[in-house]
Amino acid sequence: MKKHENVIGRVYAYFLKEGWNRHKLYFVVRAGKMIIQSATPFLTIYFIPAIIGELMGNKNPNRLIGLAASLVLLEFVFAILNGTLGNVIERYGQSFENHFKMILSKRIMELDFQMIEDKKALDQLELARNGMSWYSGGMNGLMEPFFSFLSGLITLLGVVALLTVNAPVVLLIASVVVIASTVVNGKINQIEQEGYRKLSKINRIFGYLGWNLVDFRYGKDIRLYDSKDMMVKKWGSFTEDWNKENMEIADRQLPLQLLRDGMQVIHDIAIYFYLGALAILGKMTVATCIQMVNAAGTFTGSLRGMVFCYQEMMKKASYANEFVSFMDYPPAMPKGNMPVKKGKHIFEFRNLSFSYPGSDVNVLQNVNLTIQEGEHLSVVGLNGAGKTTLVKLLCRLYDPTEGEILMDGVNIKEYDYQEYMQVFAPVFQDFKLFAFSIKENLLLKETVAEEEAVRDTLEKIGMLQRVEFFKDGIDTVLFKQFDETGIEPSGGEQQKLAIARALIKDAPVVILDEPTAALDPIAEYEIYKHFEDLVKGKTAIYISHRLSSCQFCDKIAVFSEGCVKEYGTHRELVNLENGIYAEMFAAQAQYYVS
Ligand code: ADP
Repeated sequence: MKKHENVIGRVYAYFLKEGWNRHKLYFVVRAGKMIIQSATPFLTIYFIPAIIGELMGNKNPNRLIGLAASLVLLEFVFAILNGTLGNVIERYGQSFENHFKMILSKRIMELDFQMIEDKKALDQLELARNGMSWYSGGMNGLMEPFFSFLSGLITLLGVVALLTVNAPVVLLIASVVVIASTVVNGKINQIEQEGYRKLSKINRIFGYLGWNLVDFRYGKDIRLYDSKDMMVKKWGSFTEDWNKENMEIADRQLPLQLLRDGMQVIHDIAIYFYLGALAILGKMTVATCIQMVNAAGTFTGSLRGMVFCYQEMMKKASYANEFVSFMDYPPAMPKGNMPVKKGKHIFEFRNLSFSYPGSDVNVLQNVNLTIQEGEHLSVVGLNGAGKTTLVKLLCRLYDPTEGEILMDGVNIKEYDYQEYMQVFAPVFQDFKLFAFSIKENLLLKETVAEEEAVRDTLEKIGMLQRVEFFKDGIDTVLFKQFDETGIEPSGGEQQKLAIARALIKDAPVVILDEPTAALDPIAEYEIYKHFEDLVKGKTAIYISHRLSSCQFCDKIAVFSEGCVKEYGTHRELVNLENGIYAEMFAAQAQYYVS
């Protein structure tokens, strides 16, 4: 129980605070609705016995009409107010939904990169997403039981006062039944929650199949490799698992639901019998008897309502808790707070070894390497040698398993993470352009200025003419997800735009991982011809298979099996006897010559 209370406390503290900061008026409207809800049952509790008392006593027509009209009018006003406030609340619900989606997305973007591959973090994200949507019903889903609980409490205090004075036995009977059905309801909820955890994995797979596979980027492979049947089969098999899990939940819940309903019938019989007997024996007037029947109904109704609301709060809080947990998910990497000085830097990899999370294979093994200020370093080696991993570690997307990376003599973990990220402008092999305009893709921030900078950079990488050919110029949207007039750039064009994005960031270190792999030889030549110019004065790290590019660099590091096997200038390495570089260079030169 303690654990549930903690969860309820944590979740409601979070959402009440977040909600209050977002829309204060929402809570005023909620409070208004709560007061109306708690007052509504007292209309019948007061007016019906009064009307019956009048009918059985004085029979004054004016008073009768007055009572009936007041009842009808008040019920009407309450209903209208209730409906109107409910409508306002619904609208706030929409706004909250967008708000929480936004803060979830923001949190995902702030997560340490290595968590993107962490299964536990991904599961937590899936739980957070679902927990905040249909499972908990979002802000409204959480607040509905909370405010209904409070309104039930107000009503309850009123009827308890009435019953204590007139029929305390009724209080006793009703309390026993409510407590018993509470226990049963608890079991029903527990079964549902156990099922929910199991369903989370299946839902993630559904999410993948449902969203990613209709993404047109998969379209070519699905068609050409005729994989539609396999996808549909997978879908079918996961649907079966899903159905089976749901059926199991329903089967376990059914007997408990029947038991709960049976107890309600017994409760009604006991109360009618007791109050009826009092009236027949003349120990209670008919009007009071009716009032007590009503009050008893309201008592069980509101008590059960409150218990139900509490259980709902518990259930919804346990779902929404996944959201709060995700917001509090511990960072994967320690972050320092040392400021990063402006300008160029020296980097040093010292006894660096690394294996990816969840794997014990050392992808890098005792690497020692220094990159001087403004140096242009070429990193070469066969596929899988660990070149990309090296730059991912340098950019602090992962932390080394052993050894350290120093910037200006200080371990990079000591630096302020955000500032450290600003040191690099990388173009990774699997870079991504967004379905936004070319300008937005290059600047990656909301800005009206800097259009000149965009044009300049496009000019430098030989893309300006092509971009200006489009009707909207640098405002042309890429891809067709949001804009059907969006263009579909070729692989080479995308790579050029990604390079432009790195150049425009104006960071002191530019990293190009296979920067020209998708370019045709002429475009590649153009880029290299201008590259010295483009990265002049900056530190640059090139990873490339094409050794011709190494000739532009000050130093070359040859990676093999996770180690630096050779290091030096082009001239030094090409003359090394039995050297890997010399052999690779000769092989490529021969290839080009032949
Ligand atoms: P290179 O850039 O030299 O081709 P990488 O640095 O990309 O090599 O990869 C080095 C090794 O690390 C490869 O064996 C690759 O399969 C493995 N690897 C790369 N990324 C991951 C990852 N995210 N998780 C586990 N292993 C990885």
